Amino acid sequence: MKRLVLVGAGHAHMEVLRTFWREAPRSVEVILVSPEDDTPYAGMLPGLVAGLREWREAHIAVTPLARYASARFLRTWAVGIDADQKQIHTIDGEMLDYDILSLNMGSTPPVDAEAARARNGVMVKPVPTFLQVWDALVEEAQKQQLRIVVAGGGAGGVELTLAMHHRLQTLGGTAAACDLTLVTGTATIVPDYPAGVRARLMRALRAARIGVLTGVRVDCSVPDGLRLDNGGIVPAHCVVWATGAAPPRWLVDTTLALDAAGFLAVNDRLQSTSHGNVFAAGDVATINGSAQPRSAASAIHQGPALARNLLLALEAKPLERFTPPTRTPILIGTGGRQAIGTWGPFTVGGEWIWRRKDRIDREFMARYSVRDALDR
Ligand SMILES: Cc1cc2nc3c(=O)[nH]c(=O)nc-3n(C[C@H](O)[C@H](O)[C@H](O)COP(=O)(O)OP(=O)(O)OC[C@H]3O[C@@H](n4cnc5c(N)ncnc54)[C@H](O)[C@@H]3O)c2cc1C
Repeated sequence: MKRLVLVGAGHAHMEVLRTFWREAPRSVEVILVSPEDDTPYAGMLPGLVAGLREWREAHIAVTPLARYASARFLRTWAVGIDADQKQIHTIDGEMLDYDILSLNMGSTPPVDAEAARARNGVMVKPVPTFLQVWDALVEEAQKQQLRIVVAGGGAGGVELTLAMHHRLQTLGGTAAACDLTLVTGTATIVPDYPAGVRARLMRALRAARIGVLTGVRVDCSVPDGLRLDNGGIVPAHCVVWATGAAPPRWLVDTTLALDAAGFLAVNDRLQSTSHGNVFAAGDVATINGSAQPRSAASAIHQGPALARNLLLALEAKPLERFTPPTRTPILIGTGGRQAIGTWGPFTVGGEWIWRRKDRIDREFMARYSVRDALDR
């Protein structure tokens, strides 16, 4: 019997499990390796931070999905891959053989997690750790007026800052008087987005009286704030790191082909360019010749192609090409029940965009809810 190991309960692997639920691969043992029973859905995360969503609404329950997909769920971290021996090493010292391996374990901000944590900093990933720190900050903000700095002016950082602001305002009292600052090394926030999106996000940040420091490169968290490259310090009780994406560090010790930044290099079949029995999708992978952004939307688009190719690889059949969508609409929450988005060439904003985003997010979550599927 062949063994397929899935590492990471990322967005693409949720689709793999859903596919296997409907179309179980024959004579194959499937094992999912991931540390948590519930995996966060990025699209719902700002709503959870803003207090607009319940925890359950923003997380996919992995355990029932794995069970229905007939996959064994190993709740642990992968810490190494011996691609030549076809083995995964877990943090508990276990070695897991595989015939086919699929990796969808996301990314983290390029920051030393230990150092950041030791100095009142927190990274947005892993999400469960960030959510714990956010809950503690919300509690503390009701006792004393905090200064919070978010490092990272990409869409995730801006959306998160606006969501945090909304939550603090809703609480009122000292929480509403907390000071939020967004710091980015680029000349503008969301530099890769259309000018209309940028302008609307800047307007939302200004309306919320969130300080924005652009063009300042950040160095590291220090005990009393954020140190900038120029030696200056932005005082803060907590620094939230949302500065882009870096691959898991332990990938450098593998013999798998990596791109210049250390992400797994895959071809347009989502197959490692060095090892034909290894596949990867989502943030952790770079598709040769494709400029797909590292986003949940990209991981979600890759999900069906990954599932299909894993089934084909298990049967030693020719793989199919993944074609990324030519244009994905942008939808970004701006705090409360407000969002901005692109509509063809236009940028629009308002509550109706939030409702549209809300519907898309809820439909996505329903696809992976075993309870919803059984009720249908
Ligand atoms: C605040 C914020 C808001 C965002 N909002 C959006 C948005 O609205 N839309 C959008 O498209 N993108 C958004 N993003 C980007 C998005 O979060 C990521 O691009 C997306 O989560 C990547 O998905 P993935 O499937 O590759 O991995 P992830 O969703 O990161 O999933 C990785 C999984 O692998 C597990 N894992 C990690 N390491 C290991 C290991 N060593 N062993 C085993 N398992 C492991 C994790 O626990 C997790 O279950 C946002 C990001 C942030 C920070």
